[in-house]
Parts: sequence; structure tokens; C-alpha cells
Amino acid sequence: MTARMYYDNDVDATALAGQTVAIIGYGSQGHAHALNLRDSGVNVIVGLAEASKSRPLAAEAGLRVANVADAVREADVVMILVPDTAQKAVYDTEIEPNLKPGALLMFAHGFNIRFGRIKPGAGIDVGMVAPKGPGHLLRSVYSAGGGVPALFAVEQDASGTARARTLAYARAIGATRAGVLETTFKEETETDLFGEQALLCGGVSALIKAAFETLVEAGYQPELAYFETMHELKLIVDLMYRGGLNFMRFSVSDTAEYGDYVSGPRVAEGVKATMKDVLGDIQSGAFANRWIAVQEAGGAEFRELRQRDRDHQIEKVGAELRAQMPFLNPVVVHAGEAQATATSAAKPAAPSGTAS
Ligand code: NAD
Ligand code: MG
Repeated sequence: MTARMYYDNDVDATALAGQTVAIIGYGSQGHAHALNLRDSGVNVIVGLAEASKSRPLAAEAGLRVANVADAVREADVVMILVPDTAQKAVYDTEIEPNLKPGALLMFAHGFNIRFGRIKPGAGIDVGMVAPKGPGHLLRSVYSAGGGVPALFAVEQDASGTARARTLAYARAIGATRAGVLETTFKEETETDLFGEQALLCGGVSALIKAAFETLVEAGYQPELAYFETMHELKLIVDLMYRGGLNFMRFSVSDTAEYGDYVSGPRVAEGVKATMKDVLGDIQSGAFANRWIAVQEAGGAEFRELRQRDRDHQIEKVGAELRAQMPFLNPVVVHAGEAQATATSAAKPAAPSGTAS
């Protein structure tokens, strides 16, 4: 089965003609969607709380800003780009009571629809455009004339125009320049959660820590163990990104390649069965229920888990070593804030006459 990709020429851009799009939230995705839509000629209004720190940013960019309820009242299309954990409250209190009949309610990730947190009424359209990249990239690539690919889906089509409008939205943020792929809220949500848990965030972190600890417990120097495990990982991933496993294996030594074939499967023994369990917990809703319950209880378990890993030896050793490598553009994370270290310190203190 080969998936069909949709490009600019496959999309009727006029499906959004004369319509107003409300972008709710102005964070990573929100700013990029709002600016790309505006630059594609779409009428955009940004919906933010009165007290939101993003208000001046959106206004300085020349965007119209209103509170969420007013933005939704005006809009034919409402894209929810507040954090997934905040969406239900914003939807219940400010979006749902103000949605126009026949409006298209949009998401960039399917969690709240897939797990029934948000239950749109039968009279509205529900669609998704989920860019496969962070907001700053969506904006910069669009500004340079390109696009970041995306997934799109239609969950509910009350007006008969949901699919055309969802595709026109994907085109207006630049995604169909690179190509968009049709999915469902179910498929997007389950695969996204699986990817981040089993491999991208969870699996890789666990492998890095296990490799680092194995070396340190065997008496090797922690600094050396850091370079061997976390630091070098990026060099290997960059090769895969460009040319797959084949290019990585082409680039490393024959010894490394042979060791890959004979030892990799030993390390991964049993992993697929565990991954199937992880996927099962996602599909059954067990993971979502657990995560929602943790949030509703105030997030204590989440904070404990975060704290437990924050002071791991590999983080302490790594921070010291990275501080001596300004070319990495290193950052340190304190209490949820990420701060650049070496490069920002090397910059002149106050660049005058610029808004940087
Ligand atoms: P974000 O964390 O950057 O925050 C978005 C905005 O929401 C911020 O402007 C903030 O002011 C506002 N906000 C924060 N807390 C709020 C609250 N409690 N109530 C109301 N507003 C609040 O979010 P994001 O990363 O842009 O994610 C938005 C959506 O896009 C999510 O559904 C996410 O899954 C999806 N998505 C994100 C990415 C990504 O790379 N960041 C990629 C694809 C899809
Ligand atoms: Mg993802």
C-alpha cells in the first residue's frame, strides 16, 4: 500500500475564500499557523486570554487579537493550538458556547478527540492538520518558499465542506508544498503517542541511560561514557536522517557495522513484545486515562517522575562538558525554563536598535 500525497495542485484554495480563521493560542504552532495563513491571504484572528503574555507578540506581528470567545464568534474555522492538556477547559468554557453552526473546528493533534475529552456537537465540522515539525520550522521554511509536510484528517463533516476546507488550510500554512498525507484522528493519535513513548522520547532516553550506566558501573570514566553514549548519538542519527540505516552503515567502520548486526539484536531482545504492550495501553485508552487522572489529581506523579530523572549523573556530566562546546549551542534547563549558556554569554549584552 502506498499512501497518496496531496500537493498544492490537488487543493482548491478557494474553499477558505471569504472565511475567517481563529487561531487559539500563540505558542510554537500558533504563531506559525497564524502568520503563514495571513501571508497566504487568509483572514486571521488570534484568540488569547486577556492576561496572555503572547498578546503583545501577536499584535506586534500585525495580527488582530481578541479574547477567545470573541475570536470564535467571528470565525468560520477555529484551530485550537493551546497545549493538549489545556484544550478541554478552553473548549468547554470559551469555544463550544460560541461556535457558529457549520464552523470547522480544527486540531494539530488528535488526543482530545480520540480519547473523548472534547465532544463536538453534530452540527460542526471537525478536521486536523498536524505538521510534522515544530512551529519555528513551519514558519521559517514557509518564509523561505517551502513547506513542512503534514498529516490531515476529517473526523466529522456536517457542512459537506470539511475536507475541502481542511485541505485548503493545509495549503495555506504551506504544508502541501511538501505534501500532506490523509489519516484519521485515531491513527494520528495512536502512532504519535507510540512513537514518542516507545522510541523517540522514552525508548531512546532509556537506552542512553542504560548504556551510560553500564559503562560507569563497570568502572569507566563518566565523561568518556557521556561522549560515547549521548554525544555521539546525534552524529549517528544525522546519517540515518540523510540516508537511512544503509547510509549510517556505509559511513561507520566495518567493525562498527559487524557489531551492529551481531549485538544490536541482543540488546533489543524482547523489545518488540514490550513495544506491543505499550501500543496496547495506548489503543485501549489505559495510557490516556492514567495521564488524565494524574493531571486531574494536580500532577504530583508527573513532577516526581520529572524530578527523579533530572539529577541523573549523565545530566550533570553532560552539562559540564557541553558548556565547553559552544558550537553545540548548549542550553541548560532549570525549573521548566531552557536557557542558552555558552553562546548567549558570548554575545554582546544589549544589541541596540533591534528587537532580537
Ligand atoms: P505551546 O506549548 O507552544 O502553547 C501554545 C499556547 O497556548 C501558548 O501561546 C500559551 O499562551 C497558550 N496556553 C498555555 N497554557 C494555556 C492554558 N492553560 N489555557 C489557555 N492557553 C494556554 O503549544 P504547541 O506546542 O504549539 O501545541 C499546540 C498544539 O499543536 C497541540 O495540540 C500539539 O500537540 C500540537 N503540535 C505541536 C507540535 C510542536 O512541535 N510543538 C507539532 C505538531 C502538533
Ligand atoms: Mg509527535
